[in-house]
Amino acid sequence: MNLLKYKIWMFLFFITILLLVNKADSHYAVLQLPLLGKTIYLDPGHGGRDPGTIYNNIKEKDLNLEISLQLQQELEKKGAIVFLTRDVDRDYSHKEDKSKKRGDLSRRIDMIEKANSDMYLSIHLNWYKNSYYSGAEVLYNDINDKNKILADNIMTYLKKDLKSTRHITPTNLYMYQNIKIPGVLIECGFLSNDSERNKLQQKSYQKKIGKVITKGIIAYYQQHDTT
Ligand SMILES: [Zn+2]
Repeated sequence: MNLLKYKIWMFLFFITILLLVNKADSHYAVLQLPLLGKTIYLDPGHGGRDPGTIYNNIKEKDLNLEISLQLQQELEKKGAIVFLTRDVDRDYSHKEDKSKKRGDLSRRIDMIEKANSDMYLSIHLNWYKNSYYSGAEVLYNDINDKNKILADNIMTYLKKDLKSTRHITPTNLYMYQNIKIPGVLIECGFLSNDSERNKLQQKSYQKKIGKVITKGIIAYYQQHDTT
């Protein structure tokens, strides 16, 4: 049984149990699962030979994965089926790739496109030479109209719940120009900022980020996408 079938069976099993338990009030149970039926592909940025941004021995690739795993849990609690481009420390470059970075990204694009998911979310951390800057933000490509709406919804909660003062920003990065399904890149904070770096390493803050992004996605589906 492949992973997709396994996940779908586990998901159906879980829903059946839930509906049996809540038989008298099954409508209520479904209301608690606003992402029921949605499949979401998470892409923890970098990995393997590519550490992303670094501060001393703290590597972006590790924190991206930890945050993505917390986000996976939060999305699944709301009924979504979640896939990850990686759940270990690895990249997808091949020996023969002229550009290892491009090879890695093109294989992530293929994974996300072929899965036919409803949405993808790339998880990254920011860095800037001036350590003053902090705050989470969302980047989107205008390959479709939904990306900006999704970015806006997530940004609303990053401002409200994480007190970010940053804004959504268009991006023309290779990966995001080439994925047709709705999705965005979330920069969860600055590794170059002392206090934000401390928070980003804490499991409780990583979980909070997961909850906040999930709220934005629920709001996106409730307000702007009824399909
Ligand atoms: Zn990055």
